[in-house]
Amino acid sequence: MNNDILKTLYSKEDIANACRRLGKQITEEYGDKNPVVIGVLKGAIFFMTDIVREMDLYMDIDFIDVSSYHGGTSSSGSIELMKDIDIDVKGRDVIFIEDIIDTGRTLKYLEDLLADRGASSIKVCTLMDKPEGRVVEAKADYVGLEVPNEFVVGYGLDYKGKYRNLPYVGVLKPEVYSNK
Ligand code: 5GP
Ligand code: MG
Ligand code: MG
Repeated sequence: MNNDILKTLYSKEDIANACRRLGKQITEEYGDKNPVVIGVLKGAIFFMTDIVREMDLYMDIDFIDVSSYHGGTSSSGSIELMKDIDIDVKGRDVIFIEDIIDTGRTLKYLEDLLADRGASSIKVCTLMDKPEGRVVEAKADYVGLEVPNEFVVGYGLDYKGKYRNLPYVGVLKPEVYSNK
């Protein structure tokens, strides 16, 4: 699997440092609040588990799954809710944990969904941001790492379901796209 990687964009250490920095910032800003922290499946699984352990806060944890990519490398445009949260967010402070913001469509969909349910605040923490990819207006409140307009895999992010378990973030060799 490692042989399919052209280059590493962010190492394990880069990711761990980003988790520590954001976890500390969120801990300071939320203080004695009791947020609902929602991991967006599946891409954010590793980031979710790492970052919540950097937050010294009482919190509730939940997961939501939305689909937009359908396995390829470009966004399909429409977002589908695949798995909903269990917690009632009315009157609660919500923090979404995302892997990467690209077009911004997923983020906008998630924010609208929970705003409709009466969350009292909604913030978004993303490991990676691809500002050049934006199609709709969307902005994360906490950003770990910026990435160029390239398709990345690893640390939760997939290509056709694979590579999520790479411990770092990298770019695939061009032949991987033609062979698999
Ligand atoms: P958006 O709705 O902002 O276009 O995209 C959100 C989702 O698309 C991300 O949560 C992620 O699952 C997927 N995505 C966006 N850019 C990339 C990328 O470079 N690599 C991978 N593997 N997934 C991406
Ligand atoms: Mg995602
Ligand atoms: Mg994907």
